[in-house]
Amino acid sequence: MLKTVSGFDRIGEENAFAVLAKANKLASEGMDIINLGIGQPDFQTPEHIVEAAIKALKDGHHGYTPANGTVECREAVARRTLNMTGVEVSPENIMIMPGGKVTMFAAILMFGELSAEILYPDPGFPIYRSMIEYTGATPIPVPIREENGFAFSAEETLALINENTRLLIINSPANPCGGVTPKSEIDKLVAGLEKWPNVAMMSDEIYDVMTYDGEIHQSLLAYPEIRDRLIVLNGWSKTWAMTGWRMGWSIWPDRLYENVRKLAVNAWSCVNAPSQMAGIAAIDGSQDDVTKMMQAFDNRRKLLVEKINAIPNITCATPKGAFYAFPNISKTGWKAKELASALLEKTGVATIGGPDFGILGEGYIRLSYANSEENIEKAIERIGDFLE
Ligand code: PLP
Repeated sequence: MLKTVSGFDRIGEENAFAVLAKANKLASEGMDIINLGIGQPDFQTPEHIVEAAIKALKDGHHGYTPANGTVECREAVARRTLNMTGVEVSPENIMIMPGGKVTMFAAILMFGELSAEILYPDPGFPIYRSMIEYTGATPIPVPIREENGFAFSAEETLALINENTRLLIINSPANPCGGVTPKSEIDKLVAGLEKWPNVAMMSDEIYDVMTYDGEIHQSLLAYPEIRDRLIVLNGWSKTWAMTGWRMGWSIWPDRLYENVRKLAVNAWSCVNAPSQMAGIAAIDGSQDDVTKMMQAFDNRRKLLVEKINAIPNITCATPKGAFYAFPNISKTGWKAKELASALLEKTGVATIGGPDFGILGEGYIRLSYANSEENIEKAIERIGDFLE
């Protein structure tokens, strides 16, 4: 028998991909599927971004680029960061990555080892826990509670930190609950971290433009006192509907930058030039398509929340960010994953069971509103009929 190192026995995955595969299979067998499971915008990448990539290919940009990204792309990210957060970041601290996920992979690899504890949101993006377990570190869930507006609590987070804590992962606006953590809570967290100078932070800000009802995303970059231990994850996937392009960026402190640059040299060499040129066009070009997409998400969000709350025994808090709702289904008498499976098999509506995002996800399902208003309405009707 081939024997791999034990980390590979512990590595997990994202069930959203398995649900997508199953939904596609059922669709190929003729079932009418409505996908509210998927975590990607249902919009095409804006035309001018696609054109920039085509031009780059035609102009002959076919070779390797620097492992940390081209200077032009890193400068574009610095401009965008200043624009979004008011904080100046040097291109020398920016890495262009093949997707947002690769930043969490790198950050968790850097701090995860047997004796380490790593804090991560639960419910949260499933790869955090999977990668923590892969490294042998102990995953410590930070509860994300409905009664707290699905924001994390600084007090609860700080109470979980001890001498073994090496990395704290936070995510706002958040997947899967759609919570946006208020500035006051982040202020408290950063103040409390003063006592723990050896704890690094990774702030996943990939949904930074995706807030509603006047909610404001508070970047962790705004706190100079933690900049020397802060990694910020961001990318093009969600904001510019570019999930398949595999384009992300991250901001690293000086002390860690060479580590991640060398990891890139060892693992993926670089991100291709046409995608980086498309990335620059995304940042510097018109944001009209982003505005239109966000308007559509906002309309769907309101529709979805209204319709789902009309189903007896389901309550759904209004999400403040990202493009997910996290209705509470505990009063239906169903276990969340069983309900998600039954909904797909019996009604053709794909959703994700809350436990796929962590232990505290029981009692909830995740609905992505990256689908048309017509489909959202139809899907909720089917869910209501099924539960009746
Ligand atoms: N972080 C969060 C919170 C996400 O929800 C996702 C994607 O769903 C990612 C990171 C990964 O983004 P990418 O597709 O660019 O790897």
